[in-house]
Amino acid sequence: MVIPGAMDRARHNRGLRLGKAMPSFVQFLQRSGVYAAQSFMIVPRRGFNLVCLRDSKDVGLSYDRDRLQVDDVRLEDVERVALEYISFRYGKQKSQERADQLLRLRTALFATARPEGFARTIAFRFLRHLDQSRKVINATKWTPDDVPWFLTRLNWTFGAQANIFFTLADATWFTVQKALGPKISRDAFRKDIVPHKQRGADLTCFLVGDYDATATEAAGEYLPDEQVFVVVDQGNPPVFDYGEAFIGVMAHEIGHFLHHKRNIPGSGHHDRGGILLSSGMESLSLDKELVGDFTAW
Ligand SMILES: [Zn+2]
Repeated sequence: MVIPGAMDRARHNRGLRLGKAMPSFVQFLQRSGVYAAQSFMIVPRRGFNLVCLRDSKDVGLSYDRDRLQVDDVRLEDVERVALEYISFRYGKQKSQERADQLLRLRTALFATARPEGFARTIAFRFLRHLDQSRKVINATKWTPDDVPWFLTRLNWTFGAQANIFFTLADATWFTVQKALGPKISRDAFRKDIVPHKQRGADLTCFLVGDYDATATEAAGEYLPDEQVFVVVDQGNPPVFDYGEAFIGVMAHEIGHFLHHKRNIPGSGHHDRGGILLSSGMESLSLDKELVGDFTAW
């Protein structure tokens, strides 16, 4: 029995055939008897398998009910099933490999049964203010047209690695009728800019051109009491590589937001070089500590 989009755990004996073509089984762990582009899987006698049936909408399964038991794995079952499966394959004894596989399996299972709660809404606000001659000017080189690219990069960073997805609340220009100067002060940010945040969104990102960030942040800032952050146009080239200086700072500040949402104390900075939020060189990579910190499991 298959509920569309659900996962199936087949226990005991022999194969399982599909009533209709052409969905395919995808294995959750290596060497589990399922291969890409096949419409069947192998379940050893007295064994079990854990697979996702992709494109299973409106598909009926036919199989020998005396010899095969099929269970759906629902969101609330993920933790129990993942532990059961890992304990079966790796035993109860704790090890690095067992812990890694458990995290991988959990992430894969949650990604299949994506809970809406892991989607966050984000708004983008682009500053216009006055120059010395009281003319309205754009403070940032970025525009709402850049937002689809921001979201794609953010979802490849947080969605693909931690199953946290961002959807757009909205992206608009706003105007402050003051000459705020070429570098926005922290005071002016709080007083004149933050009130323009999108109140319905989980998070608002402000693009303001340049900003007087603190020494430890350098190129942006997240305000936990307001759930907003700011990123300078140039990003932070000394800290990020490969053309990721701007999107890297955006991801860094969002990392602070995700920490804050989990009520984890401290700044969230760490000393694991090359990983997002590192005090040294950073990248868009998350390690398993970060994935654990960012997510509720
Ligand atoms: Zn930081």
